[in-house]
Amino acid sequence: MRLLLAEDDPELSQNLRKQLKKQGFAVDIADNGVDAEFMGNEEPYDTVILDLGLPQRSGLEVLKNWRKQNNAVPVIVLTARDAWHERVDGFKAGADDYLGKPFHFEELLMRTQALLRRHHKSIGDNIESSGLTLDEERQTVTLATGVRVDLTGTEFRLLRYFMLNPDKILTKTRLTEHVYDQNFDKDSNLIEVYVRHLRQIIGKESIITKRGQGYIFKGKSASHPI
Ligand code: CA
Repeated sequence: MRLLLAEDDPELSQNLRKQLKKQGFAVDIADNGVDAEFMGNEEPYDTVILDLGLPQRSGLEVLKNWRKQNNAVPVIVLTARDAWHERVDGFKAGADDYLGKPFHFEELLMRTQALLRRHHKSIGDNIESSGLTLDEERQTVTLATGVRVDLTGTEFRLLRYFMLNPDKILTKTRLTEHVYDQNFDKDSNLIEVYVRHLRQIIGKESIITKRGQGYIFKGKSASHPI
C-alpha cells in the first residue's frame, strides 16, 4: 500500500513516514498543496493523509479539486483539534475520515487500516482472503492449515495488495507502484522474485501468472485436486 502524506511540518512528516514504513506502507511526502494535488493525480495512492493547513494551496482546495476531477482516492484529513467547522468542511469537500491534531500515531494507523479495508470491502481486524489471514500488526500470514509464517516487509506489502485486490489482473508496474515509494528504484523484475517467494509460502496455485499481462491472486479458497 502506498500512501501520500501531505504535511508541511517536516518533523511531523518525517516521524510519521518512519512509523508508517515500519507498518509496511510505502510513503511519499508533499510539503505544500500544489505538489500534493499534482502527486495525488499522477500517482496511484491507496490513501492520502492530508493536512488542511498547507502552504501554497490549502488541503481543502486540494481535496475539492481531486473530487471535481473524479479522483476518488481515500482521504483522511488532519484538522486542528477543536475546529469542528474544519471537519465539516473536510467532509463536504469529500474526505473519508478525519483526525484532530495532535494525535497518537496508533490512532492514525488504525484509521488508515480501517479506511483501506472499507475501501476494499474487507471486514474485521485482519485481512482475510482465500483461506489466508494477514495480521497487519505482526506482519504475518496464517495459512489455511493454521501455520503462521513471518513475512519480510516487501512480502507483506505485496501479499496485502494481492489480498485486497483478488481476482484482478495486476500488472507488474501496478504492483511496483503500490509496493514501493517514489524514491525506490522501480525494477519490476523484483516483483517476480517476491511473487516466487510468496508462492513458496502460500501455494503455487494462489497466484496465477497471466503471460504478458501480470498476476491474478485467487480470491476464492483454492481447491486442491484430489
Ligand atoms: Ca500545516
